[in-house]
Amino acid sequence: MRIGPSHALFIDFDGTLIDLAPHPSKILVPAGLSETLVRLHEALNGALAIVTGRPIAEIDHFLRLPHQIPVAGIHGAEIRVAGEQLGGPVAQQALAAVRLIAEELAKRHPALFIEPKPAALAVHYRAAPELAGPVHETLAQAVAAHPELKLIRGHAVSEIKPAWADKGRAVDRLLTTPAFLARTPVMIGDDVTDEDGFRAAMRAGGCAIKVGTGESLATSRLPDPGAVRAWLERALSELSAPGG
Ligand SMILES: [Mg+2]
Repeated sequence: MRIGPSHALFIDFDGTLIDLAPHPSKILVPAGLSETLVRLHEALNGALAIVTGRPIAEIDHFLRLPHQIPVAGIHGAEIRVAGEQLGGPVAQQALAAVRLIAEELAKRHPALFIEPKPAALAVHYRAAPELAGPVHETLAQAVAAHPELKLIRGHAVSEIKPAWADKGRAVDRLLTTPAFLARTPVMIGDDVTDEDGFRAAMRAGGCAIKVGTGESLATSRLPDPGAVRAWLERALSELSAPGG
């Protein structure tokens, strides 16, 4: 699909902009990616946001974007827009209780990587895919006692986040801010958690692009992050072309 000046872009990070790595800290940010995002943000008059499961601080670390570029982190549990940080209730006690159970599990299975986040907890099993079932079951039991938390599953990760936060709400919230108002949203993502964002974009009259294979609501597809980056480059040159 073609991006025009009245679109708004919502872009997931891992597996969408960036190729997945064996460990979330080992990703490689291609040269020129941040500059493309900055220029696209400018060409869309500010209507571009990163919508990710990572904390905003990690996006800052990897992309080093100027802070006026909106980022929704931890599936929307934290949102930075127009230089201001928005958030919601964080169930610290419940998270701490679940974390103890996850750490017990990791003692028995050292291939697991537990990642505490400001308002969430991720348990990665990329190094031991056979643990997917046991990890998810253990966490499901742990979370059952805490309705304020929700367990979700991504690529080689099970994650606990505030029940109120998802990428759909993040897209909805951003669409109410001045730079995004009255624009046609386009959400791009590769994972199950992006489907909420897809639904929100489509409900607002926009569309969704799924990266890779797997079931999805999205009506458009791109094969991998390399294709996403090429698509963004092309969108930028079309937006920057005279009369474009
Ligand atoms: Mg992703």
